[in-house]
Amino acid sequence: MIKELSIGFGIAAAIIMVQQGFNVIPWFFMVGLILVLYYLVGFKGMNKSFSAVESSKGSIEKINFDRIGGHASVKKELLEALDFVKNSKLIMKMGIRPLKGILLVGPPGTGKTLLAKAAASYTESVFLSASGSEFIEVYAGVGAQRVRQIFNQAREMTKRQKKSSAIIFIDEIEILGGKRGSHGSHLEYDQTLNQLLVEMDGISCHDQVKVLVIAATNRSELLDSALVRPGRFDRIVNVDLPDVEGREQILSLHSRNKPLSKDVNLRAVAQETFGFSGAHLESVTNEAAILAMRDRKKLVNHRYFIEAVDKVMMGEKMDRKPDIDELWRIAIHETGHALMSETIRPGSVSSITTTSRGKALGYMRQTPEKDFHLYTREYLEGRIDILLAGSLAEEEILGSRSTGAASDFQQAIGIAKQLISSGMSSLGVVCLQDVPGGILHDVITNIIEKEENKVKEIIIRYKNLIKEVADYLLIQEKISGEAFRKILSGCGEKLKVSS
Ligand code: ATP
Repeated sequence: MIKELSIGFGIAAAIIMVQQGFNVIPWFFMVGLILVLYYLVGFKGMNKSFSAVESSKGSIEKINFDRIGGHASVKKELLEALDFVKNSKLIMKMGIRPLKGILLVGPPGTGKTLLAKAAASYTESVFLSASGSEFIEVYAGVGAQRVRQIFNQAREMTKRQKKSSAIIFIDEIEILGGKRGSHGSHLEYDQTLNQLLVEMDGISCHDQVKVLVIAATNRSELLDSALVRPGRFDRIVNVDLPDVEGREQILSLHSRNKPLSKDVNLRAVAQETFGFSGAHLESVTNEAAILAMRDRKKLVNHRYFIEAVDKVMMGEKMDRKPDIDELWRIAIHETGHALMSETIRPGSVSSITTTSRGKALGYMRQTPEKDFHLYTREYLEGRIDILLAGSLAEEEILGSRSTGAASDFQQAIGIAKQLISSGMSSLGVVCLQDVPGGILHDVITNIIEKEENKVKEIIIRYKNLIKEVADYLLIQEKISGEAFRKILSGCGEKLKVSS
């Protein structure tokens, strides 16, 4: 209304001024400038509206804890904390101070946003979400104003919807809650964080509207200590990558609406997807359905799931076709990796292929037997052996190495450093950062050379077998783990790692 009146008044004033013979051009110019400034600082900066999902109408009603796979202990911990919000009267009686914040810490795509939405649905709260970056502007004071605004918006919406609680979800909290004084334009960042601390301190059990802040981050080490002290984010919940049971649950949740063929074994897919997040697994089910649709199939069968895993892990198939010599080299390289993998852990090769996907010209995929949390020295050395085997197979069979092994070597060096920092090298227990560069280099070289000698011995022994499998790959492009093992067993000898 005020806007319309001002526009009308402005136009009338301009007409009168023109009639009186005034030059209105400089005035138009000034008004334009003021409007631009108002848009940048005032309208865009101050009056930001944060996205809200109304639990009564929006999608969060459908997102409850049953729709989130795995994370059994996370859900338990979260539910316990949320009961504080649900039973606020009892809490007051017992003299317990209200829970103000829950911090969800975990890698991207593990379901932190889903958990926050499910929390809002469980507590029948109003749900407002924002990302840490939405609070940061170049203009001083805007971030603090936005923090005040999101809390006010949450309270107003809760009253309007006649509810008693609101959940404010702040994703990527490290952007606004980073350690104070560590930013370039630190005053603006510090003011924003201070305002968040003030708002959280102001939450009391006597408030008409109970506000709970749920924040998510995958860089908790960057957070200011004032933010994570008790009384602010009281609960810190780790939302890790799902284990094999969790992966199976997530896959089955996201396959519910897809027509699956009877041969689909989601447990087997879960075993093949070690290290995948919930978001990756959702993408696997989606890609499998897309692949089936492309082939004009009515049902999604297991083969599509396996191809979808490759696609999510490595990227889309590339059109580039290496020439025959390069293909031969790629086949030798990948078979080298596979031979070593099977030698160290029989039954571990899932497939070998010379199809280019993403940046990889070919790849060997392994099936992890179980989820590991601790790695022994033997296990880590075995991983170095598998990484080195590709390049060593090229050298022994083709007489030279190639640039295709650069990323294998980088990974092998990373594992060697892991061995050193875990006190499993000749240096004993050391702090990796304190080891002089020259010494570190020598120890890494020793570790790699020792493993190279082990691997070379095996490659030389099975040279003909590698050529046989590579020949097969030149024609078939892909070989399954079972077929590879059949060729290996035809060799008549059981493979052993020489120590
Ligand atoms: P980020 O840290 O990148 O913001 P996030 O941890 O908040 O990620 P979400 O946005 O909650 O992850 O999850 C992304 C998508 O992944 C979801 O929409 C859902 O499809 C799927 N997903 C992730 N985890 C799970 C899970 N545990 N159960 C079911 N689906 C999941």
